[in-house]
Amino acid sequence: MVVELISVGTELLLGNIVNTNMQFLSEKCAQAGVSVYYQVTVGDNPERMKETFQTALNRADIMLVTGGLGPTEDDLTKEICAQVMGLPLVEDAHTRARLEEFFQNNIYTEIPENNWKQALVPEGCQVLDNGNGMAPGLIIEKDGKTAILLPGPPNELYPLFTEQVLPYLASKQPEIICSQMVKICGYGESQVADKLADLIETQDNPTVAPYAKTGEVHVRVTAKAANEEEAKKMIKPLLKEIKNRFGMAIYSTKEEENLEDVVVRLLKKYELTVSTAESCTGGMLAARLVNVAGVSEVFREGFVTYSNKAKRKLLDVSKGTLKQYGAVSRQVAKEMASGCAFATDADVCVGITGIAGPDGGSEEKPVGLVYIGCCVKNKVSVEEYHFKGNREKIREQSVTKALDLLRRSILENYK
Ligand code: ATP
Repeated sequence: MVVELISVGTELLLGNIVNTNMQFLSEKCAQAGVSVYYQVTVGDNPERMKETFQTALNRADIMLVTGGLGPTEDDLTKEICAQVMGLPLVEDAHTRARLEEFFQNNIYTEIPENNWKQALVPEGCQVLDNGNGMAPGLIIEKDGKTAILLPGPPNELYPLFTEQVLPYLASKQPEIICSQMVKICGYGESQVADKLADLIETQDNPTVAPYAKTGEVHVRVTAKAANEEEAKKMIKPLLKEIKNRFGMAIYSTKEEENLEDVVVRLLKKYELTVSTAESCTGGMLAARLVNVAGVSEVFREGFVTYSNKAKRKLLDVSKGTLKQYGAVSRQVAKEMASGCAFATDADVCVGITGIAGPDGGSEEKPVGLVYIGCCVKNKVSVEEYHFKGNREKIREQSVTKALDLLRRSILENYK
């Protein structure tokens, strides 16, 4: 089944808002095993909307449109869609009653006349109640083609899509889709693709698809089958093979679990505490750890020691080391991690020092050079990285690698 995604709104073409709806819908459609061949964005222009809808209905089974369902004059999605599909607009009594109720509850003295147009729907369509706004979602079927119209505001679109459209799409598919996530840290996207080349090349059902994330790679194995049990059976040997190839580099096989969740889970499991000492990441590592609910059981302290003075004062990094090797060095990362352990008495401590750029690099120490030290049981291991990208990317990658180093250090020392 092929779905074409269309977003309506001149503000999208002008770059006034980011088209997050398309990212959300594309991801959800992929997870549901629905093919998306085109994403189209069109302004609030009747002629161009007409052309866009006609094209989509010709080449896809379902066109899914977001935006332009509001009460104002330039909200034309429903009107143009009805025109293209050759359906008259009729008043939906249920939607009118909901609108009346909404206005009564919101103490409007007078109901703006143009709001009643939101109760008009293409004849014979299915109306999806919108719990967070006035414009309902609409499913319109005609001559083997379907148009699904949804409101643009994400807080209205997301629940409508998840709760009402996804079940509709599932009901149109004879097979179910089941997918398994494998999250890998320590390999780049092309390395993962290389190592899985034979599986990716011969794939049909299940499919194997790697996706690059900052500092990590996610691999999704997706199977289509008559039922969930059968799909899981098809996925199992592939999952085993991927685990054999990547071993410890796989940090999770759970969709909802991220790197910091795993680190906190391991710290709790082995009853350990953690502290952090950060220079170029300026507290981002501590912030990622604090993202995890319940981290207070394991997180002791987070230092941001940006200046040499702070490194000396708070972590007791020696003046001689700073002078001899410079702040961005293996030796300083080591002393930051061990100094952090001494200062906080935590079981596992991380020290990060690096050059995030854009200035401050040299031939010997280029922008992107980052050292991460991890102190466990009085031993410190230090890893050297050469990250690419802008300041933000370098800092994000540093944090991801620090979390992964934490994870591996805990497993190597306590498992
Ligand atoms: P309303 O009933 O609120 O008028 P609508 O269906 O007419 O909803 P639009 O007027 O097109 O939707 O958009 C309303 C708001 O929704 C936009 O100002 C924007 O904040 C958000 N929005 C619309 N489309 C998108 C999109 N593709 N991605 C992210 N946000 C969007």
